[in-house]
Amino acid sequence: MFASLSDRLTATFRTLRGKGRLTEADIDGTVAEIRRALLDADVALPVVTTFTDRIRARAVGAEVSGALNPGQQVVKIVHEELVEILGGSARPLSFAKSGPTVIMLAGLQGAGKTTFAGKLAHHLKSQGHTPILVAADLQRPNAVTQLEVVGERAGVPVYAPERGVTRDDERSKGDPVKVAKNAIKEAVKRQHSVVIVDTAGRLGVDAELMKQAGDIRKAVDPDEVLFVIDSMIGQDAVATAQAFQQGVAMTGVVLTKLDGDARGGAALSVREITGVPILFASTGEKLDEFEVFHPERMASRILDMGDILTLIEQAEQKFDQVEAARMADKMAKGEDFTLTDFLSQMQQLKNMGSMKKMLTMLPGMGQAREQIENLDERELTRTEAIIQSMTPYERDNPKALNGSRRLRIASGSGTTVAQINSLVKRFEDAQRMMKAMAGGGGMPAMPGMGG
Ligand code: GDP
Repeated sequence: MFASLSDRLTATFRTLRGKGRLTEADIDGTVAEIRRALLDADVALPVVTTFTDRIRARAVGAEVSGALNPGQQVVKIVHEELVEILGGSARPLSFAKSGPTVIMLAGLQGAGKTTFAGKLAHHLKSQGHTPILVAADLQRPNAVTQLEVVGERAGVPVYAPERGVTRDDERSKGDPVKVAKNAIKEAVKRQHSVVIVDTAGRLGVDAELMKQAGDIRKAVDPDEVLFVIDSMIGQDAVATAQAFQQGVAMTGVVLTKLDGDARGGAALSVREITGVPILFASTGEKLDEFEVFHPERMASRILDMGDILTLIEQAEQKFDQVEAARMADKMAKGEDFTLTDFLSQMQQLKNMGSMKKMLTMLPGMGQAREQIENLDERELTRTEAIIQSMTPYERDNPKALNGSRRLRIASGSGTTVAQINSLVKRFEDAQRMMKAMAGGGGMPAMPGMGG
């Protein structure tokens, strides 16, 4: 996410490090470098100009404060201005005061609407809402089936009275406006609190598409119209966003595919050009690769200042609190840390999603990106297989693991005795660490992450 932009900006700031005073030439040089980095990241020209003008004005006038050196002050200004173009503060979803909340999704074909529909439904469901998905994309082949699959994964019902275009039948049948309208009645009857309407997109902006989206908007009177845009579309982002603003007057923006090696220009342009806030970001194909958009956190990520808040939130969501309490209790009582506990901890780590993605949220990790890329997640899977091949007795009494037991476990888990030995060694290290924690109190620093 924003990897190259992030690298360029941090490299620029590095040249300012250690300077006691910034000359006008320093500032000019920095601003020119920021400008090039943004243009290379496909940020729209008017946005780049506004942004760099503000930076220059503030940097020239910046007082040298006691706490920050001039270089740090420039970083602070850039951070604040980035937050500003990303929208200032996070804007939460608006809900209807009475009756179901209607959320309509619009955007080009392939932008990620259907995928996002599932993620949003899943997110809202986890917050106690009772959403229903509506299949009003009757144009893209198999869009209706895809929404049904997504709905099933999210555990959310799908209203799909029409099949739309399918692989076997290329004519669109059924009227999406009618589908959307009837969906609202259905939602009221079935007492759903949120209705998410997936609509059709085209490969490019066209009049017919806009008219249909506009008609659906009129028919369902949505509380939110979310414009879904692929962050990778580069300079087309501006024209597309403007067309949708005229056509459907969206109330919010959803950025998708931020996980790709996106240059990120769309993200930085759309809000500034349209004035419409970014509400959500999509960072992968899986259901939970979804984030509420926080301008301040995104700016920190772009500047490689890390996004600790998102990291903590994701960890909290995915960490099994009951299991954590059980471990703490065990340690307090001075009970032995066993291989079963070790496995459970490893599984928790796995649940926390892609470790790579999480690690890149740590401050300063931009520079360690290469090592992170090489992190072997298969290692976790292998550990799991090994421990699962042990008997409960062995898991509780690792000392009993003699040569013949190790041989049996290796063949049972499709690994080698050397791999078992290495796992046992890592386990013993962890066990020692747990002992030290139980004795000394407090968490030790995570290895390799600094203190
Ligand atoms: P729609 O035509 O707007 O409904 O787009 P889809 O939801 O069908 O998405 C188009 C393609 O992009 C599919 O292959 C999705 O799996 C993929 N996709 C959607 N969102 C993301 C995302 O955030 N990251 C990545 N990498 N792929 C995505």
